Amino acid sequence: FALEVEDREEDLVERPPVITIMGHVDHGKTSLLDSIRASNVVSGEDGGITQKIGAYQIIKNGKKITFVDTPGHEAFTDMRARGAQVTDIAILVVAADDGVMPQTVEALSHAKAAGVPIIVAVNKIDKPEANPMKVKQELMEHGLISVEWGGDTEFVEVSAKKKLHLDDLLDTILITAEILELKANPKKRAKGVVLESKLDPKVGPVADVLIQEGTLKIGDVIVAGETYGKVRALLNDKGERIDVVGLSQPAEIIGFNQVPQAGDTIYVIQNEQHAKRIVEEVAKERKLAETSRKTI
Ligand code: GDP
Repeated sequence: FALEVEDREEDLVERPPVITIMGHVDHGKTSLLDSIRASNVVSGEDGGITQKIGAYQIIKNGKKITFVDTPGHEAFTDMRARGAQVTDIAILVVAADDGVMPQTVEALSHAKAAGVPIIVAVNKIDKPEANPMKVKQELMEHGLISVEWGGDTEFVEVSAKKKLHLDDLLDTILITAEILELKANPKKRAKGVVLESKLDPKVGPVADVLIQEGTLKIGDVIVAGETYGKVRALLNDKGERIDVVGLSQPAEIIGFNQVPQAGDTIYVIQNEQHAKRIVEEVAKERKLAETSRKTI
């Protein structure tokens, strides 16, 4: 099945960067995600941090940035194992009072293996025992050399808790994204990746997806792994109903016949008959792969 279609250069448009935050436990990944979201909530929006799905978008200097909230290692290992690459830029969070720790190094090596540019967020600089210089030195030993020291890695000193220098971090993200020249075709049939999924007792299978190509619409026939369906409802990152989902935009989809797996690629297909055939084929292939794994 030819699910991938070549793009014409003239159809490509700039798309928002997709950011994953990685780092050692307790170094402030969650706090940073929450603070960035909270400080960019347009006043008048209800409540703020009622995040419905595992990703959100903010607007900075008129540009959108998408943050994905999957634990860093999952985003890089599980998803990459299935061929899905969600991240354009990795933020490596290192607590300035704790320094480089085992999971820092692990996260770093995943990002490197994926060829994803890394921005270091040296966090907790509000703490009296913070030592950002030490973080720089330790990371240098792992090949991340700060721009000030003649390398090409941007280090931004922040405090997620006190909301210090978050703007600098966002500016650095936008500059890095600009260099990457991220583009995609919004006109073709949508393609994306399942970030999370669950069975909702009321509405049935629910999938949080990130759209990477094309535009997803209500009524589109979709497949993801061994599941298919028709888009019945779409919700954005604030839990509001929407009709279309654009490039690099996260959304919740209701309409799958079963629960797809995180990391599955989602494709829009011409019609349901075709979708069923694809899903049968995928199921067969996966079964075969499973059997051969067991025999080995
Ligand atoms: P995660 O495990 O990497 O997601 O880390 P969390 O975001 O859960 O943060 C771990 C702890 O560090 C929490 O108690 C946070 O309140 C605290 N923390 C996070 N960022 C900062 C910061 O910038 N300054 C200070 N002082 N504490 C922070």
